[in-house]
Amino acid sequence: MSEERIVYMFDEVDPSKFKTTSELKEFFGGKGAGLANMTSLGLPIPYGFVIPCKHSLHYAEHHEMPSALKDQVKESIAKLEKKSGYVFGDINKPLLLSVRSGAPVSMPGMMDTVLNLGMSKAIAEKMAESNERFAWDSWRRFIMSYSDIVKETGREPYDEIMEDYKEKKGKKLDIELSAAEMKELGDLYLIEYKKLLSTEFPEDPWVQLFGAINAVFVSWDSERAVAYRKMNKIPNYGTAVNVMRMVFGNLNDDSGTGVLFTRSPMDGEKKIMGEFLINAQGEDVVAGVRTPMSMDDLQKERPEIVEEIFGLANKLEDHYKDMQDCEFTVENKKLFFLQTRVGKRTASAAVKIAIDMMDEQYIDEKTAVLRVAPEKIEELLHKRISPTERKSPIVKGFNASPGAVFGKAVFDCGRAIEMKKAGEKVILVRKETKPEDFPGMIASIGILTSRGGKTCHAAVVARGIGLPAIVGAGDLEIDEEAGIAKVSGEVVFKEGSIISIDGLAGNVYVGEVDVVDPEITAEFQRYLELCDKYRKLGVRTNADTPQMASDAIKNGAEGIGLCRTERMFNAEERLPKVVDMIVAESLEEREKALNVLLPLQKGDFKGIFKTMNGKPVTVRLLDPPLHEFLPDYKTMLIEFTELRVKGDHGDRFKELEFMIRKYEELKEENAMLGHRGVRLGNTNPEIYKMQARALIEALIESQNDGIDVHLEIMLPLVSHVNEFTRLVSILKPLASEIMASANFTPKNTIKWGTMIEIPRAALTSNEIAKHAEFFSFGTNDLTQMTYGFSRDDVESKFLMKYIDEIEPPIMKDNPFEHLDPNGVGKLVAISVKDGRSTRPNLKVGVCGETGGDPDSILLYHKYGLNYVSCSPFRVPVARVAAAHAAILDEQGKL
Ligand code: ADP
Ligand code: MG
Ligand code: MG
Repeated sequence: MSEERIVYMFDEVDPSKFKTTSELKEFFGGKGAGLANMTSLGLPIPYGFVIPCKHSLHYAEHHEMPSALKDQVKESIAKLEKKSGYVFGDINKPLLLSVRSGAPVSMPGMMDTVLNLGMSKAIAEKMAESNERFAWDSWRRFIMSYSDIVKETGREPYDEIMEDYKEKKGKKLDIELSAAEMKELGDLYLIEYKKLLSTEFPEDPWVQLFGAINAVFVSWDSERAVAYRKMNKIPNYGTAVNVMRMVFGNLNDDSGTGVLFTRSPMDGEKKIMGEFLINAQGEDVVAGVRTPMSMDDLQKERPEIVEEIFGLANKLEDHYKDMQDCEFTVENKKLFFLQTRVGKRTASAAVKIAIDMMDEQYIDEKTAVLRVAPEKIEELLHKRISPTERKSPIVKGFNASPGAVFGKAVFDCGRAIEMKKAGEKVILVRKETKPEDFPGMIASIGILTSRGGKTCHAAVVARGIGLPAIVGAGDLEIDEEAGIAKVSGEVVFKEGSIISIDGLAGNVYVGEVDVVDPEITAEFQRYLELCDKYRKLGVRTNADTPQMASDAIKNGAEGIGLCRTERMFNAEERLPKVVDMIVAESLEEREKALNVLLPLQKGDFKGIFKTMNGKPVTVRLLDPPLHEFLPDYKTMLIEFTELRVKGDHGDRFKELEFMIRKYEELKEENAMLGHRGVRLGNTNPEIYKMQARALIEALIESQNDGIDVHLEIMLPLVSHVNEFTRLVSILKPLASEIMASANFTPKNTIKWGTMIEIPRAALTSNEIAKHAEFFSFGTNDLTQMTYGFSRDDVESKFLMKYIDEIEPPIMKDNPFEHLDPNGVGKLVAISVKDGRSTRPNLKVGVCGETGGDPDSILLYHKYGLNYVSCSPFRVPVARVAAAHAAILDEQGKL
């Protein structure tokens, strides 16, 4: 009779039968895999067995345990009895068990471990003969934890009994209670159990065991576990159950329990770090009731045991070739390991451990690169909240731009500028931001908004200039007029209150948090250089100022992929000049206004060329619709009405009347889909002509100053090839003319290219590539137009519901953040292929928000792009992600 094998004794698992550790973990769960591995390495672990994950899925479906499972559990207990010499339910030699759940990835919400399973009052009585207090303490703990964990009553009723009892006896601490008192407590607990569950406490060990196994299975589908899986996108693996013999760290002073890391999880130092509690069981270490001793202290007191612990820990690290996090227990001088897993670590520890293990020849260079997740790199580049900070956030928003800061809340851009001048550090709190808020934004050390998503104005600007920002904190009701912020109707802070934001996590705090500085270590530098060695994608930056450009270069950028010229218009003192240009009533007037802007733009370009000396600079000509630069319509209207009511028809009234008319003339229902980019360029070429002149004159002067300029001019929002060719036919001759009259030859040819950000452009790439010398994907607009999602609205309206609320989710990821391989990704792939079919050497980059996103970078590598471009502060992330992409590709895992 060959029956399916359901239950495996630890020494019946053959880890070598699994190709990778993750496959082993998927089958036996993390804990089970660790126990099986430790067994096969010969480490001392309490004997036991594991029920693989898939059986809990079966249970979830059928709500009952297959009888074969029950039979095999019974057989396994028999094997355990035989090997250990203890007998399940026997009074003289009781086999006590721990029952532990263990999913393939560690997951809160799963059933906690039940210790001392198999006890009954009679067993406790017998155990009490040799160690009275230990016996009765274990018994009452077991009743409580069985009720709490298996029967889900919570432990509070029992804690209350304990408190009352201590009060009655005039005692403060648990340890002051005598053995007899513990015994009495056990009796009180039994009464409570019956009261809570209307049934006697099961003294039959088999009922206890199957009850516990059952509870593990059920916990896989508990609300908390399901929510956690959803949030972290963990597949429905099921959970394993591990049953093993108890070892007692609370037997006497030659016993104890501890945890260790084989290297420091904080900074990666190569040193075994750990904590140990003498005469204690399992959770006592974590519970923090007593202060544990450090490994160093333990070494002084029990050098032999520490030597043994270190030997075994090193053996594990040697096997896994990675830092391990272990649990162990000493029972009467005998050491047992109870758990091992790859240890969690901070980003700086991850980098140091990767580089150290490479130097130690544990792992090769490529493995070292893959040991640090690209997203983690962010942690190393910004100020962040100290790991010891305990304050809890008042609200959460989108983590739009990383960095942790605290400062005074201000609700108005003018106030932000004033307060900054007065030397204050301010955090700008707004419902949302608009281009005209830029001066207020740069006067602040952080931004907090209640609206918007990852690609809203506040987010894009903040990321660009490296300003910590949280956007779309929807639970925060912001009253800009009154200068107050509320949560659920209650005021949480006002103008001038100190608040803190953590842009990496998206958390908002009232008051000051503990902040730590970023640190560029030698290992980090080496790690990044290692990444550069393997990556195939170039990494450029989106930068509009010399300052941003030099920040980016420090972070390793190889060029500018996107210089947005409209950002240069936003400076406080320039805006009126831009407005003059916009409201001009005739071509002549407009050209006059443009002539005022020309030297300013030229100056900006020269600054950037100088910083980027020798590196390519892609400059995009004006992109947004013009009315975006005009003052706020509502504000103008209110002022205008007030003047009219007062009967004041002076200059200001006339000015407002004119501006309001202009605004209404320019305003469009769908400005994002409107008169902007090359559309504006084609109807009003004078604007692009001014910009081209500023660029060429800057080029001439810079090159004459000895600067090596690699200029690429990019035309935005092309949908039809003719939009591009018409403009190039105007601008290129202009450029030649300017150069000829200056008797100038550029050292490097000027390239004319386009941003691919409209589906039609992507689909007609072969046409466009006949004329355009480079492409750069603008995935913000491309996503907007591919999905028909307004990028300014969808994230706060419904997109997050699609992802997080509706069950099953309509979408897995935010397509503005992560390139969607079936939507925009497909267009990108087609466009690259078609473009290169016309122009084989077509250079292709991406400069949208996805250009700095690790998941998207994997795809850009796959599609054969030449470079990605991202904000200066994400450049290191992109370097790491690009290296991951190249290595995974080589290993056939992309
Ligand atoms: P978690 O996943 O929460 O770490 P564990 O299953 O590791 O849960 O168990 C919780 C505690 O119980 C640990 O501190 C562990 O040391 C202890 N423990 C688990 N199994 C045994 C055992 N067989 N003997 C003694 N203590 C155990
Ligand atoms: Mg554990
Ligand atoms: Mg665009």
